[in-house]
Amino acid sequence: MPSTPRESANGTALPWPGGGDNGLRVAVLGSTGSIGRSTLDVIAAAEGRLSAHVLAAHTNVSHLLDQAARFRPRWVAITDPTAAAGIGAAALPSGTSLAVGPDALDDLMADPAIDRVVSAIVGAAGLRSTWAAVEAGKTIALANKETLVMAGPLVIRRAGETGARIIPVDSEHSAIHQALACGRPGEVRRIVLTASGGPFRTRPRESLADVTPAEALRHPTWSMGPKITIDSATMMNKALELVEARWLFGLPASKLAVVVHPQSIVHSLVEFVDGAIIAQLSPPDMRLPIHYALFHPVRVAGPARRLDFNAAMSLDFEPPDLARFPAVRLGQEAAARGGTAGAVLNAANEEAVRGFLDGALRFTDIAEVCRRALAEHPFQEHPTLDDIRRLDAWARQEVGKWACV
Ligand code: NAD
Ligand code: MG
Repeated sequence: MPSTPRESANGTALPWPGGGDNGLRVAVLGSTGSIGRSTLDVIAAAEGRLSAHVLAAHTNVSHLLDQAARFRPRWVAITDPTAAAGIGAAALPSGTSLAVGPDALDDLMADPAIDRVVSAIVGAAGLRSTWAAVEAGKTIALANKETLVMAGPLVIRRAGETGARIIPVDSEHSAIHQALACGRPGEVRRIVLTASGGPFRTRPRESLADVTPAEALRHPTWSMGPKITIDSATMMNKALELVEARWLFGLPASKLAVVVHPQSIVHSLVEFVDGAIIAQLSPPDMRLPIHYALFHPVRVAGPARRLDFNAAMSLDFEPPDLARFPAVRLGQEAAARGGTAGAVLNAANEEAVRGFLDGALRFTDIAEVCRRALAEHPFQEHPTLDDIRRLDAWARQEVGKWACV
């Protein structure tokens, strides 16, 4: 990777990981979402070392146009053609072109001017553009965990063939990525994902069936999009992250563990064979893992909040309550089985979360319908992308039926 010194605003010479006159040109997929907005914060704070080359969103056109006016990207992409209807050239800044529809976004991923892709579309919909970025051999800051949950082995293998690099943005996986640098692959005893435990860590178990969407959408430590916030409340988020870690780090499920850490300051830990445990600590602020992924392997100052050791703080850890949060077991199972298990778990969960938010399912039904989908699906050990898409559709249909009864 080319390395040319640059100067920061305070005059310090900085190592520089490549890029053109506008710094590293970033494609932000899902720019109007929680991760997308944090990514633009990181770009704005990067003193010209990063620029937005593509901003892509699904339906939130007015927000996207505001972002375009501020960041003046080369491309704005709207994946929902209906939402894009009626946008004239006058709505875009000069020098910005419009791409409409998911195929157009996939095609954009091959643009040689893109230095980094931030994959931050929510849900299974994020797989296709991430796959296109993998095909194009890009360096991908991956927030869309569903990509690896659904198709981890295929994505990792294809990335090896095309030269694509995947740097995790999920805070736990970013922490592990950093901690793994302290040893060699054969020296890892296990990795331990931390989980906040969400808003219902201590709520009486018998009342969980009565949880309302509004209660589940109030996360104690993180501010995130609605889907992942519900996943944190059921701890399905940790289930998905176990599967994500399985493929991202190439470790067997037996070397993956979960610990509940309510303060969300220790973002995960790696235990090495000698007993040393290396952790990464910082306040809960997604701008740090995004910043880390965009600049990797270089570290430069960024906008994320910092820990203040002048204020008293305590760090608590407790084992997850698997009876309260049965979703965690489903993640352990999907990570151990591999094959189509991750895709089915993910699709069933997406549909169940939708059902819960629409009032068709109770909070406790979410894990239950996912368990049923996982148990009843026609498992395949080595699926193709088409097999994965087919089973994704199957799982959604099954959950849809259960949600109606
Ligand atoms: P969000 O709901 O806030 O934003 C989603 C973005 O995806 C929006 O820009 C939206 O326009 C776009 N989008 C939605 N449906 C789409 C579709 N069908 N096609 C194209 N674009 C579509 O979500 P978020 O919380 O920012 O999460 C994004 C991803 O990052 C998820 O996979 C999530 O699991 C992961 N993640 C998020 C956080 C977090 O703190 N928010 C942390 C770790 C990982
Ligand atoms: Mg996470």
